[in-house]
Amino acid sequence: MPARERGYDSRWDKARATFLSRRPHCEFVVDGKACGKPATIVDHVVPHRGDQELFWDSGNWMPLCAHCHSSRKQSLEHRGSAAARARAMPFGIRPSRIPVIIVCGPPGAGKAAYVEIHSNPRDLVIDFDVIRDRLASQAGRNPVTSLTAKALDERNRLLRSLADDHLHDRCFFIVSAADPEDRETWRRKLGGRIVLLATPLEECIRRIQSDPRRYGKENQLIDLARAWWERQPAPAQPLRQEA
Ligand SMILES: [Zn+2]
Repeated sequence: MPARERGYDSRWDKARATFLSRRPHCEFVVDGKACGKPATIVDHVVPHRGDQELFWDSGNWMPLCAHCHSSRKQSLEHRGSAAARARAMPFGIRPSRIPVIIVCGPPGAGKAAYVEIHSNPRDLVIDFDVIRDRLASQAGRNPVTSLTAKALDERNRLLRSLADDHLHDRCFFIVSAADPEDRETWRRKLGGRIVLLATPLEECIRRIQSDPRRYGKENQLIDLARAWWERQPAPAQPLRQEA
């Protein structure tokens, strides 16, 4: 993917220059001592993998020289991204005891609205955004980085609990799952069925822009919606598939 499509646009150029003017030296630590050479790279400590909050959180940035970035960061990043992947698509999830409806689609597709219409009070709704917002209001000013990880851990705990669930009639699991293989993996792990809300990009953008809860996050969400559509196998026919 070209760097520009991952969010490295002019806004990033500016943010990066400001950050490096304030922290001009490489902060990579070897044997308890920071490298200290002139920094030319702003690195994401926790790999953002397209997560816009992680991408723009300056608490997740670190100035590095080119040498430290290429020779030393690689192995760390490799380990970090493996952990991030394991969080996003966790192991050890057994098939659900109750029926599961896996609601997939880009930001702005109307996943939460779909669940609101189709669920009843005895259903369990598992929605990463809701979990993260709840943790955020409890945590106050805790760093976003740990919040995302915590919210994924909590989501995964709920998914694991489905194998023994005696409390709910059904589960609605909301996940954007841009990759068709990921959707199939979720279905295989949990059982149940997929509801794919492949809302056309223009409509997603319109909804994102008119939703006051998304105020301040519109551009990031639109980028994510665009990225979701880019991952669909061609020809990406808009469709609304309900089983
Ligand atoms: Zn260095």
